Amino acid sequence: MTPPNTHKKTIHKTCSAKKPEAARPLRTTARQIWLLASEPFREYLAFYASGMETGDRRLGFWEQRLSWINDRPPFRMQEMEKRWGSCAAHGEIVLNPHLIKAPQECIDYVILHELVHLKHHNHGPEFWAILSAAAPDWERKKQRLDADVERLMAA
Ligand SMILES: [Zn+2]
Repeated sequence: MTPPNTHKKTIHKTCSAKKPEAARPLRTTARQIWLLASEPFREYLAFYASGMETGDRRLGFWEQRLSWINDRPPFRMQEMEKRWGSCAAHGEIVLNPHLIKAPQECIDYVILHELVHLKHHNHGPEFWAILSAAAPDWERKKQRLDADVERLMAA
């Protein structure tokens, strides 16, 4: 229901002294979010932030060692039911935050796997050849990760 015009005018007059609040851009700081968050949500934010920190650090390590990477690809975390990571066609790397509970060599296997996809967007022979050259023992790391999947994926 539309309020009568007189009501609109009253509101306009009351607010005319300064710009309406909604006209300002939303500026919610990380600190404000933290203060408003419930304890379980805080725990999740810390878990997510820790994953971003680890992912960023290991991506930084590998990007310097792979000739086809000039700039760090866009990177984010997202919970996925059946994947540890993915590489989008536009180059974004997505990691499962539960991956950070795994040993570093397993984290590195997933990151390296996704970074090789920046060169070969498939699982063809060239993809595996490059992955094997960069990490000759990748199969052992993958098996170690797969063997522990239930524990790692648990909340
Ligand atoms: Zn793949």
